[in-house]
Amino acid sequence: MKMLRQLLLSICFLLWGDCVFAAPLDVNSIKSGDLLGKHSLYLADDTGSLTLEQLPEATDDRWRPVTKDILSLGYTSTAIWNRLAFTNTGEDTEWMFEVAYSVLDKVDFYILYPNRTQVYQLGDLAKFDERPINHRNFVVPLSLPIGETVVVMVRVSSSTSMQMPLKLWQRTDFYDHEQGTLLWQGMYFGLILVMIFYKICLYFYIKEEQYLNYAASFTSFVLFQATISGFSYQFLWPQLPLWNDHALPIFLGLLLLTESIFVRSLLGLSSRSPRVSIFLRGSEILAAAAMLLSVFVPYRFSIFFLIVLALLINSFCLAVGVKQWLEGDKAAKFFTIAWVGILVGAVLLALSKLGIIERNVFNENALQIGTTLSVVWLSFALGEYIAKQSRERQRSKEEALGFALNVAEERKGKLEAQEETLKLQEAANANLESQVQERTSMLEKTMLELEQANAKLRQLSYIDELTDIYNRRYFNKKLETEFKRAQRIQVPLSLLLLDIDHFKLLNDKYGHLVGDACLKTVAKVFQSCLPRAEDTLARFGGEEFVILLPGTAEEGALSVAERILQAVANEVVFFEDLEVTMTVSIGVATKCPSSTDYPKELIARADVALYQSKSSGRNRISVA
Ligand code: GH3
Ligand code: MG
Ligand code: MG
Repeated sequence: MKMLRQLLLSICFLLWGDCVFAAPLDVNSIKSGDLLGKHSLYLADDTGSLTLEQLPEATDDRWRPVTKDILSLGYTSTAIWNRLAFTNTGEDTEWMFEVAYSVLDKVDFYILYPNRTQVYQLGDLAKFDERPINHRNFVVPLSLPIGETVVVMVRVSSSTSMQMPLKLWQRTDFYDHEQGTLLWQGMYFGLILVMIFYKICLYFYIKEEQYLNYAASFTSFVLFQATISGFSYQFLWPQLPLWNDHALPIFLGLLLLTESIFVRSLLGLSSRSPRVSIFLRGSEILAAAAMLLSVFVPYRFSIFFLIVLALLINSFCLAVGVKQWLEGDKAAKFFTIAWVGILVGAVLLALSKLGIIERNVFNENALQIGTTLSVVWLSFALGEYIAKQSRERQRSKEEALGFALNVAEERKGKLEAQEETLKLQEAANANLESQVQERTSMLEKTMLELEQANAKLRQLSYIDELTDIYNRRYFNKKLETEFKRAQRIQVPLSLLLLDIDHFKLLNDKYGHLVGDACLKTVAKVFQSCLPRAEDTLARFGGEEFVILLPGTAEEGALSVAERILQAVANEVVFFEDLEVTMTVSIGVATKCPSSTDYPKELIARADVALYQSKSSGRNRISVA
């Protein structure tokens, strides 16, 4: 089978020989890595079913010359054949042939050597480790014998943009150039990754959501960029061709989504430009939907949709950025400058992918250059945003502080006033208390005085004014008390009723003043005859006196009466040049009272006895 195939291929080769040899490219006439578009022919196989054996001759007009450095046909389902013929007049036989577009689905190399044909079936739908050279693009070794002609046929079919940057390298040049490229690419990805890492760290310290938005959008971007340049398939998921096939639209969708969120919050669009904000929100939903649908929908539809969405979103972001910049927003200024870089890169990339402009080194790397610049610039934008936030926070903090100070001041004032009131109240209370105390003590004093006055009054009311002995009122009370006591303890109680003899005559003869003096003297004499403290002498009325002798029987009472009779008879009252003498008559009554007795009875009996003394001659004692 293999033999037959070889034979057929050789026949083919011989058949087309003339034409191919007519214009083979001398590999020593070009520089390593030059784009070979203009040296190639291409054939569009609409059915996609043509095999190498079925290809027409090189002279056939179905083969069309490529007029540009890179054959770029946009999105097409047609399979494209490229044809190149090389001769080698130099000494180097080891070469590399490269199709420098990493996302092409199927890339089949047919290398027609004079005596054999080498076939490589590559493409990003095949596993990475099936590649003869470990490289993000499709690279195959090509040995070009000196003086011989080698034809290279490349068949490409892809759902991605149909671009065929074909390059031929001297083997050593290829690896030399690759070192430089990898260094630059490493620096590029390194820079962005460091920025992402740095922003994530900042987020954990400052808890400012913007840092996460920044990190998320640039992470999406790095993934997108690494996928479109073939690095992610080479280094991240070489075993997953199926996933790799879908990775690009998914990362582009993710990029649009995160980028839009980042810009919306960075420029504060929800409050400053609500309509743009709504548009962006809608775009985010569309991006997310396209991202998910890209798994089911043909690649070219989803990627086309996402590219259009990307252009729209970025144009809007740019317009808003410019508007806010003109309004004097510093963050918007940084943002706009950064965005112009990204946008120019993205537009160039998109236009080249859509086949509108020619693919070249500049537009292929424009996005990388733009993002390198903008990743730094956006940091400034972010820094300005954070600084603005913190300035606003500081301002509102100061305002709050000022307010708090005012409140504190006001409160202090109120407290002081309250304290003042309290002090006044305390002083008033103290004053009141002292006043009350003063009044109370005054009142107490007055009460005491009143009591004393009352006592005095009471005493006075019991004293006879003229003779200075107890009066009848006192005697009545005393008689009552003593009578009860005598009833209680059953002792005799004696009562003497004394009446001055012929006192009316004395008054008439010497005058009332002499009479008064005599009354005073008689009272004193009576008192001097009563040594016991419990005996009570009182003026009974007029010139009559009464003496109460508690616990005294009749005998005792008689002896007291005798003593009084004697003392009065011996007493002489001197008044001016007068000398007056008097006698008294005495009635004695004694009783050990029973419970049925009354004090009045005792008085009545003594009165009866006194009457007896009077009627039987006066100056004597009678016993009831
Ligand atoms: P008898 O021997 O019968 O007792 O006669 P008497 O004059 O003493 O009795 P009488 O009852 O007729 O008179 C009492 C007199 O005592 C009348 C009155 O002028 C006099 N008298 C009463 N109280 C006082 C007084 O306070 N001062 C003076 N100076 N005389 C008084
Ligand atoms: Mg009398
Ligand atoms: Mg008398």
